[in-house]
Formats: sequence, structure tokens, C-alpha cells
Amino acid sequence: MNQTWPRHQKKELQAVLVEFDRRGWRISKTTYYKLRCPCGAHMRMIHLTPSNPRYAQQALRWLDKLDCPAHKEEQ
Ligand SMILES: [Zn+2]
Repeated sequence: MNQTWPRHQKKELQAVLVEFDRRGWRISKTTYYKLRCPCGAHMRMIHLTPSNPRYAQQALRWLDKLDCPAHKEEQ
């Protein structure tokens, strides 16, 4: 797999990044991971050490429910 970002230390959050990547999002890393939708309008950040144990799950659900024209062909 050709990964364009430094791997996330937490396995479940790395899986979140992979899922966003699969849908065409651009991922860059500063002090957190910054995710940018192919449509250009949507953004999401993924922290390195979120305190919320449901953080990964919530990010994936947010992505699933996102109403974005750039995602319609995938679904
Ligand atoms: Zn979008």
C-alpha cells in the first residue's frame, strides 16, 4: 500500500486514516492529522492522543453520514 502520511501510532486511528484515504481524502500531519475532502469543502482533524475512547468510531460514523457530492459514487 502506498501511504502518503506517517503512520498513526494508534491502530484504530490508523484504520480511520486508511478509510478516509480510500475515499480520496488528503491527509497531512502537523501536530495532528489534517484530513481534507476531495470536494474541497469538508475537513476533519484526527488527534494523536484523543482522550475520548469512542473517537475513532465517531470519526468513521461522521464520514459515513457526510453528505458530500464527492462521495456519492462510492456509495
Ligand atoms: Zn466533501
